[in-house]
Amino acid sequence: MTTVRRKHAGDLVDPTAIAARLRADGHTVGKTRTVILDAVRSKQRAFTAEELAESLDDVHVSTVYRTLALLEEIGVIRHIHLSHGPAIYERTAVSTDVRHLVCETCGRHVAVPRRVFEAARRTLERDYDFVLDGSHFAIVGRCRACADSSDAELDADG
Ligand SMILES: [Zn+2]
Ligand SMILES: [Zn+2]
Repeated sequence: MTTVRRKHAGDLVDPTAIAARLRADGHTVGKTRTVILDAVRSKQRAFTAEELAESLDDVHVSTVYRTLALLEEIGVIRHIHLSHGPAIYERTAVSTDVRHLVCETCGRHVAVPRRVFEAARRTLERDYDFVLDGSHFAIVGRCRACADSSDAELDADG
């Protein structure tokens, strides 16, 4: 069985081209979807569907989710799971070279350049026949503040 690679439109930044692509796939692009698309295009950082919905007037979060799913289908955005909560979305154009770290204690998340993991990626591929893909799930750990405070607790417990 061959893997069918989904045709990506990550380089699609022109809203007209994105709308045309959605229409070509048989979707309607009305006023609300245009508003959502404009909001997505203005994002330089990852966002949740809820955040996006809150930033818009009179757009229900379920409409945002449906539109985000379509945009993901054509490769304009992608989603990343930080934790158990809702996924975050990111424009493919800005996210290709970024990986996410998340603190499992406080939930703080930070985007780091993908190249940070280059050495580990090479080792896994060479020695373990494993191709690392850190793009779908965040890497979980603890931020400095949470690590320090739990160390302090341990010290206090003595
Ligand atoms: Zn933390
Ligand atoms: Zn997923």
